[in-house]
Amino acid sequence: MTTMTIRTALRRSLLPALLVAMGCGDAGSGKPPTRNGDAGVAVITAERVLDGTGRVLEGHGVVVRDGRIAAVAPRADLPAEGRRYHFPGGAILPGLIDTHVHLTWHFGPDGRLARGAPPDTTALHGLENGLRMLRAGFTTVQSLGSRLDGPIRDAIERGTVPGPRILTSMGQLSASTGGPEELVAAIDELAVAGADAIKIFASESIRVGGGPTLSQEALDAACGRARDHGLRTLVHAHGPESASRASRAGCTTIEHGALLDQETLDLLAANGTFYDPNTDLIFANYFENRDRYLGIGNYTEEGFAAMESGRVRAMETFRMALATEGLRIVFGTDAVAGAHGQNAREAVARAEQGGQEAVAVITGMTSLAAESLGLGEEIGTLAEGFAPDLIVVEGNPAESLDALFQVRFVMRDGRVHHAE
Ligand SMILES: [Zn+2]
Repeated sequence: MTTMTIRTALRRSLLPALLVAMGCGDAGSGKPPTRNGDAGVAVITAERVLDGTGRVLEGHGVVVRDGRIAAVAPRADLPAEGRRYHFPGGAILPGLIDTHVHLTWHFGPDGRLARGAPPDTTALHGLENGLRMLRAGFTTVQSLGSRLDGPIRDAIERGTVPGPRILTSMGQLSASTGGPEELVAAIDELAVAGADAIKIFASESIRVGGGPTLSQEALDAACGRARDHGLRTLVHAHGPESASRASRAGCTTIEHGALLDQETLDLLAANGTFYDPNTDLIFANYFENRDRYLGIGNYTEEGFAAMESGRVRAMETFRMALATEGLRIVFGTDAVAGAHGQNAREAVARAEQGGQEAVAVITGMTSLAAESLGLGEEIGTLAEGFAPDLIVVEGNPAESLDALFQVRFVMRDGRVHHAE
């Protein structure tokens, strides 16, 4: 909770009261259902519970009461009262978290990547993308991110339009922002505008080599200023130099890092810097939608060739990262146009191609991801006192992450959004 901004904390404490005042039912209000029938106690049972910290609890269920998880207990010990949701053959997990998406990216009427679409059109696409991800079991996403993410986040939090919990940087800073002074001023402005985190480009795109673009001095100033505001910093850094500078500056998370070496990975682990590799979905989605991107910006033939080799390198780096002791690897996909709702493909790739244990992949997309967002006491774990963000999938994801594509039930903050 320490890194949560005051504004976010206020929103969290006021929102449930506001929803009740508005007559919106939720599992914890104790009021009769007024719209979607989710009021009162809810008891969710399935074959097993994966609690998000690596534990697999056979024959357990989850009790939601008073807007919180009241218990995770053996089925025999669950209360008889309340609304029942039972999924034989299923698994209950914390709502999934994607720490790196681009909410508003979409294809235009011509089927090509939309650039410069009107804000109203763009915002509606952002809402649709949010809903796609919520239905795919992602109850929290961090969008890094455009200014329009803020109103979308706030619209969803008003409680009528369903969507995931959204954290957003509301923009991105880079060398073109200016030097240390301009970066600090831009961060002050984003903090006032309501950003949940700060996104900083410290290296080039992998399509043009990934070299460093910000000095140590600039990163020290930027990540320091963000910390003063209680804001986390997500740093786009492909190569060792840019990532090392960000880690030395005390920035929170390295995004991408496809070209990192062992020395840099060790530095991240030693400094407690989170690492958010985007190993597969980002590349797969670009290749599958090549015609929709090619010829726009740096999506050139050369750029696509760089991504072909970058994809191989990213997975090699990921394997190195897995073997790096103490390195905290979180789950982010860098979902852009075409990828929203397919976020779990990244999880499957991390297990099947990278060799990460399925349960460890899930920890990276639940409790560890929540910790990296400064929400480790609030979401990402199924235990008493946490917010009721949970999903049920068919099958056993501890054995095969393909189960993540069979989402049967989504509860976000105690409200049922999707049940089959
Ligand atoms: Zn990104």
